[in-house]
Amino acid sequence: IVEAQKPNSPVLSKYGGRFTVTMIPGDGIGPELMGYVQEIFRYAGVPVNFEVIPLDFNHIEESHFKNAVIAIKRNGVAIKGSIESKYGEHADAVSRNVSLRTELDLFANVLHCKSYPSVRSRYKDIDIIIIRQNTEGEYSMLEHENVTGVVESMKIITRKASERLARYAFEYAKKHNRSKITCIHKANIMKIGDGLFLSSCREVSKDYPDIKFEDMIVDNTCMQLVARPQQFDVMLTPNLYGTVISNVICGLVGGAGLLSGRNYGDKFAVFEPGTRNTGTAIAGRNIANPVAMLNASCDLLEHLELENHANLIRSAIEQTLNEDQIQTSDIGGQSTSIDFVQNPSHRYGFFVQV
Ligand code: ATP
Repeated sequence: IVEAQKPNSPVLSKYGGRFTVTMIPGDGIGPELMGYVQEIFRYAGVPVNFEVIPLDFNHIEESHFKNAVIAIKRNGVAIKGSIESKYGEHADAVSRNVSLRTELDLFANVLHCKSYPSVRSRYKDIDIIIIRQNTEGEYSMLEHENVTGVVESMKIITRKASERLARYAFEYAKKHNRSKITCIHKANIMKIGDGLFLSSCREVSKDYPDIKFEDMIVDNTCMQLVARPQQFDVMLTPNLYGTVISNVICGLVGGAGLLSGRNYGDKFAVFEPGTRNTGTAIAGRNIANPVAMLNASCDLLEHLELENHANLIRSAIEQTLNEDQIQTSDIGGQSTSIDFVQNPSHRYGFFVQV
């Protein structure tokens, strides 16, 4: 791993000076949020064409999933909403969100959790990077009922994947001038599985003497996060603990509607809202907070090295949220999604017709 944010040179599809990016709107609020991203990109003159692939409650065939995988492999990069994983209510219906990550080997999930000054929240000074294992652990989707009433659910931890993630985290910390990594685990109970994750991370830490390495048990971590989150810098976690911790921190910063999450493998990258909610209950009501998906779109632009466009849209988000105080109800405001994306007062023209 040479460059931490992009493990290897991305395979990118570019023709006539424009990138092609796969867009999977998904379920719930995904489609309306993607509509805002498309409009804002058009308004800001972003040289990106979207190849929109439906993969949602109405597109459940194996061929739909395959099309999505082929499109991401062809374009190298995707922006995605969350796909409802409860379809059919069949026990053997796998989560296609998880399958996409494993199929594309997106081993690292990265969340930068930073407070927004104007958003009412318990703490104003949170600045934590979460680096989460994204393809194994409790998400291996290997469950079976041995005899009626007895279920075995496999949690797979491998040295190879743990070391790979740990190296990614230390390289990331080095590149972004972070000084401490805390490995989160439950190795006092899952001595072999979590024990392997912890020992693999500890082993890799020896190659990075300038970065402090600590470990913390996951339940204590949740308590510490709620009481004193400022103590954390970079958190390195297995899969399931990672989603719990991400949700706790996103909650402390202002909820599901603000932060984005990045999924990286050696070849491909997928960008999405950080807490991966479908938001089914609020879909189509013009109340969803567009910020998390807009932040995901900026992460995408940075990945494509379209820094100017990313900065333009990020500064528009910050002005709209912090200075103009146009905020949706999930963070205590009274504005609609469309009020946010049509904010006319933004000096760079963050103003779209939806
Ligand atoms: P479910 O899918 O479990 O039936 P849901 O889709 O309504 O329920 P989740 O997707 O689990 O809910 O989301 C969790 C919570 O976060 C919900 O209260 C949802 O409204 C809220 N939420 C998620 N994304 C956003 C957003 N962009 N803006 C505002 N609220 C959001």
